[in-house]
Amino acid sequence: MRRLPGVLVVEDEPAIAELISVNLRHNGFRPVWAMDSATAQVELDAVLPDVILLDWMLPGESGLTLAKRWRAHPRTKAVPIIMLTARGDEVDRVAGLDAGADDYIAKPFSTKELLARIRAVLRRRAPEQDDGQVKVGDLCLDAATYRVTFHEQALKLGPTEFKLLHYLMTYAERVHSRSQLLDKVWGDHVFIEERTVDVHVKRLREALGEAGAMVETVRGAGYRLTAQMLLAKPV
Ligand code: CA
Repeated sequence: MRRLPGVLVVEDEPAIAELISVNLRHNGFRPVWAMDSATAQVELDAVLPDVILLDWMLPGESGLTLAKRWRAHPRTKAVPIIMLTARGDEVDRVAGLDAGADDYIAKPFSTKELLARIRAVLRRRAPEQDDGQVKVGDLCLDAATYRVTFHEQALKLGPTEFKLLHYLMTYAERVHSRSQLLDKVWGDHVFIEERTVDVHVKRLREALGEAGAMVETVRGAGYRLTAQMLLAKPV
């Protein structure tokens, strides 16, 4: 049920790739390693990742060439790319960003920094930041006007509950773990406990009144927003 964000790690040095992969796995990501440009292309053709970590210096085509190509291709152009490189000077940084990379991280980097960069690009690309309207059943949320209605009746939500609801509605019927919600709604959650999510879910349900039953607790997994209210059992 739970979908972990996929990260394609394009890196020719096995030791670095392994270190990155282990850390990603420990932090709720699903890494796939490609050791050269050809393998990376095969992986990309098979499954579109949520983010690409792309080493600059690769055997065969360089990371820069790959970034340009993927950015130009309709299928891959929206996938965030973070360039990894030993080159730290500004000219290279600009070249990487010009090639279409979303961010740039110079080796050696800390795991904490890498994870923060990945979360940041994922947040920037997240569709819940659209200023659009979302509708699930009779529940409507308008991000532009900051309004939530149920059966056309306006509801009052705090800012965190609003963000949480926006995310849950954008990905309705999907189960989200507490740590995923912390990532997506709270951002970098280094100092926030997962218990915080439960507190805000409780407040959200209260604020939603009758529609609170749409926020379902999925035992052992997390939460989801569902239009199937009759099947939902709030805990
Ligand atoms: Ca390399």
